[in-house]
Amino acid sequence: METRKPTHVVLVSSPGLGHLIPVIELAKRFVLHHSFKVTILAVTSQTSRAETQILNSALTSSLIHLIDIPSPDITALVAQNDAVLTRLGVVMREAKLAIRSNLSEITPRPSALIVDIFGTEAIPIARELNIISYVYVASHAWMLALVFYSPVLDELVEGQYVDRTEPLKIPGCKPIQPEDVVDPMLDRNDRQYKEYLTIGNGILQSDGVLVNTWEELQREELEALREGGLLSEALNMKIPVYAVGPLVRQPELETNSSTESLLKWLDEQPSQSVVYVSFGSGGTLSSEQMTELAWGLELSEQRFLWVIRAPIEKIADAAFFNTGSSGIDEVAKYLPEGFVSRTNEVGLLVPEWAQQVNILGHRSIGGFLSHCGWGSTLESVTNGVPLIAWPLYAEQRMNAALLAEELGVAVRPRLLPTKKVVRREEIAEMVREVIQSEESVKRNRVRERMKEVQQSGMKALLEGGSSYVALSKIANTIAG
Ligand code: UDP
Repeated sequence: METRKPTHVVLVSSPGLGHLIPVIELAKRFVLHHSFKVTILAVTSQTSRAETQILNSALTSSLIHLIDIPSPDITALVAQNDAVLTRLGVVMREAKLAIRSNLSEITPRPSALIVDIFGTEAIPIARELNIISYVYVASHAWMLALVFYSPVLDELVEGQYVDRTEPLKIPGCKPIQPEDVVDPMLDRNDRQYKEYLTIGNGILQSDGVLVNTWEELQREELEALREGGLLSEALNMKIPVYAVGPLVRQPELETNSSTESLLKWLDEQPSQSVVYVSFGSGGTLSSEQMTELAWGLELSEQRFLWVIRAPIEKIADAAFFNTGSSGIDEVAKYLPEGFVSRTNEVGLLVPEWAQQVNILGHRSIGGFLSHCGWGSTLESVTNGVPLIAWPLYAEQRMNAALLAEELGVAVRPRLLPTKKVVRREEIAEMVREVIQSEESVKRNRVRERMKEVQQSGMKALLEGGSSYVALSKIANTIAG
């Protein structure tokens, strides 16, 4: 009897771990639940040690085939101080040739192409080759709505968005406070703003969009985005939107020696007693802010595990293309004098990068001081860990507003950390709020809400749940 060849899907990820990791997770889902063969065309930055590690660990899954497309040299096409988003746009445009040749030569012939939000330039190639195409937005539906609506805001709003006093309205969705807009909207004269305005149109060229959220979490925005919804009516768009999340990494089974030793340290701490501090793959603080954070942690008198990077002035996403390789002695130089020895009993410092999902799943973790990248956010949610929301770049201010004000699963500083240095007293207060005393009303409310959101997300992913059904629908369409 002839056995049917597995359906082959090609996924494209743009540089940056916040892009590569969700694409790998989506790939695993297609392999494990739908027995697809998956090839990932990973456009990589080639400068990040962590990126290499993640790629190698994905390679150990024999069902996912990985093709590394080194970032084309774009030095002549961008200025030195051009923003991450500008660089991503240029890199992905320049990588088109490599994507095209892989896509047309790869065997068996792929049945679908799925690109991330920066890979939409590859969609016409799929169309030419008669392959169905989707965009995977590894963020949430409110952000997607803003992306689609931004060209209209561009026409409606005069001057800088951040100078407005009224929130920005998006049909059918929560309004956005001007200070919470995505990074490329902060300065309309910056090159990245022009780059950003083209993204929505790029997505609309595809046959559908997958979003890493779920129905119960963002019903309002998902309805607005879909046919008949207020936003899709306003924009006259008819693109199918599938909520497939929360897709997050699972803890690595093979842990390296540095993870082993920090898990051992966590084993020795009481349950829910440690605040985990990390600013994602790209986040960096100014030296003043780093000093305040160190003092804040010390003053809180709570346990902490801090993934720490050397400070950089004025650039919040300085590590985006280049997660460094500094040792602990090097980064500790930037901490207040005596901090390391004074906090030795209660704190653990990890330089540059840690296996985050292994940490968040540990019973000793009681809170996560996070930059609120959507990946980290969902990893916190799926582990039921309340957040201290500390947005830095990209769409993280929106995420922080969603988490603190709408969902009630996070506390956050009174003023945005991107506007003003958060002082030690406030940091200590927030840490105590999420970690300390089980009698604290605020602590319990945030924790309970997080448990509810966690359960709602898990339910969406189970067989028969909304996200499970949505992904099965896409898989059926692709398999024909
Ligand atoms: N991450 C990690 N260790 C670190 C920092 C980040 O494993 O020290 C992972 C994290 O688990 C998440 C991803 O890197 O899966 C970061 O994605 P996110 O969307 O949170 O933020 P970004 O890095 O894109 O700003």
